[in-house]
Amino acid sequence: MGITRNSAKCLNCGDHIESTHRHDFQVCECWTTSDKWFDNWCQTHPEATEREKQIWCDNNLLGISVDGGKHYIKRGFRGGAGIEETSEFSDE
Ligand SMILES: [Zn+2]
Repeated sequence: MGITRNSAKCLNCGDHIESTHRHDFQVCECWTTSDKWFDNWCQTHPEATEREKQIWCDNNLLGISVDGGKHYIKRGFRGGAGIEETSEFSDE
C-alpha cells in the first residue's frame, strides 16, 4: 500500500496541512501562532527558569504537525489538539 497523499486537518484551528516529500515537516496555523506567543512570553519574562518555560509550553502550545511525504506518515501533537486524517493511499 502506497501513500498518495500525506495530510491532516487540525481540529483546533481548522488548518489543512500536507507533507509532500520525505523531510517536509509542516505545522498548522495554531502551532505557528503559539510558538510566537512563546517567543513573546520569553521576552517579557527574561527571568523565567527552564521549568517555568516548560510549564508554560505544556499549558499553551497547540497544534499538529505532519511529516514524511509519500514515504511514511508521521504526526506530532501539542496541547491535545485534535486531528482529522485526510491522507490517501493506493492499493498497490
Ligand atoms: Zn492548528
